[in-house]
Amino acid sequence: MTHLELDSVTKVFGDPDASGVVAVDDLNIDVPDGDFLVLLGPSGCGKTTTLRMIGGLEDPTEGEIRFDGTVVNDVKARNRDVAMVFQDFALYPHMTVEQNLGFGLRREDNGMTDSEIKDRVREVAEMLEIEELLGNKPSQLSGGQKQRVALGRAIIREPRIFLFDEPLANLDAKLRKTMRTEIDELQSEVGITSAYVTHNQEEAMTIADRIAVLNHGELQQLGSPDEVFNEPANLFVAQFVGSPDMNLFEARLGETADAYQVDSEGLSFEIPKEYVEREITTEDVLVGFRPQDLYQARNRDSSGPAFDTDVRIVEPVGTEAIVHGTAAIGDVTAKVGDFHGLATDDEIALTIAPEHVYLFDAATEELLK
Ligand code: ATP
Repeated sequence: MTHLELDSVTKVFGDPDASGVVAVDDLNIDVPDGDFLVLLGPSGCGKTTTLRMIGGLEDPTEGEIRFDGTVVNDVKARNRDVAMVFQDFALYPHMTVEQNLGFGLRREDNGMTDSEIKDRVREVAEMLEIEELLGNKPSQLSGGQKQRVALGRAIIREPRIFLFDEPLANLDAKLRKTMRTEIDELQSEVGITSAYVTHNQEEAMTIADRIAVLNHGELQQLGSPDEVFNEPANLFVAQFVGSPDMNLFEARLGETADAYQVDSEGLSFEIPKEYVEREITTEDVLVGFRPQDLYQARNRDSSGPAFDTDVRIVEPVGTEAIVHGTAAIGDVTAKVGDFHGLATDDEIALTIAPEHVYLFDAATEELLK
């Protein structure tokens, strides 16, 4: 088990004094022993570069990377005792599954006998339910089976840290879901500190203990899946995490003795101060409604804003439906349970509880409420 720390880590590609690319900018992340960290963000935000620096494949331009308090910046990749799993599996095509699994153990000077290696290979193969495939070559395996072998090769040495770079990117949607549950279970079982790169927020939400949301090389927020979803630090996190996208519109914020008054072109309402944790002085705000928090006003009393919406499309997803509509505040997406009988061109009233309304500073894009 390893406590992993990134302390003010920066990576600039090219000449830092000229116009180098700042891939990672002053990153501070602390990953406790056995924790599962997901690095989440759009393409080019610096996720892979961060992972490669942890693995020793890339040198930080500035800052320190520490394993259990010891700086490893100058420790070579092969001496860091980390195992990496990539999206392209990186299996040796001419070797059987058994040889692929045992390769790392055979290569290193670990004092293991051939029969001990064979036992360990079998143990890992059983854990991953690939015992029947031990004699097969990679070309005889499905994508999911290849990925299991790649995982097996990573865990067989019981490394200090697991690094995963989009390991499920090449699998179909159904297999991705199965495999991410398996990786999650496996990681909890072996308890090895892990860092996992993905641009898929749903994957991040289901697999992570904590998520580091990155944009342009900068950490936007570090928190549990619950925290980044329910208390996004800023507009970027709010928009990147959660599906469907948060509804947003511009408004002016006023204040009375016991409430904040939200006025936009299409909607005016009050948010009682009991729901607002801090003093807000900003006047220009962006208002956010999560689709999941909207519901039809006719079904429940609402103390929050209610607004008429013309239904454009109803997309059933299991027991709920995603309703796309047009309201005075603009295009609106709601995820509602009571959608039976709802059709295009219907007019419905949507509402939201005031405690679920998000407010962002229009200038800084920081979360206000
Ligand atoms: P993706 O999801 O597309 O893989 P990412 O978030 O992993 O993206 P990185 O691969 O870490 O992003 O890249 C971050 C930035 O650094 C990008 O602007 C990229 O073009 C740049 N970059 C990465 N590797 C190099 C390199 N070897 N030389 C120069 N620039 C690089």
